[in-house]
Amino acid sequence: MNKEQKEHFEAVLKQLLVEHINKRRGLEESKENLSQYAIELEERAANEQMAFSLETMDDQAGGMISAIENALYRLREGLHDTCESCGSTISLKRLEVIPWTTRCIDCVTEEEFRRGR
Ligand SMILES: [Zn+2]
Repeated sequence: MNKEQKEHFEAVLKQLLVEHINKRRGLEESKENLSQYAIELEERAANEQMAFSLETMDDQAGGMISAIENALYRLREGLHDTCESCGSTISLKRLEVIPWTTRCIDCVTEEEFRRGR
């Protein structure tokens, strides 16, 4: 990976990081609002449902944030396009689509095959 490509991915990842941090902040606020206004009983049931999906989204956003942070670390270490599992080079095309990926397409395909998908 050359310097320009590295800078490109760094910019992409930082942008993604900001987006997910903002998304998560928005979710936190929604959760606070929910607990503040959950007064009516039937409303509370709906709110619980809502809180549950917010929690799921929050977990997903949190997972994404750590994945992106990890990718930025790997980029700084010069490992961004090195597959975590087999050590081969992750194609730029793949990184372009999933910039936070840590594994090459072969390893991911193999794992999915083993899981029986
Ligand atoms: Zn691999």
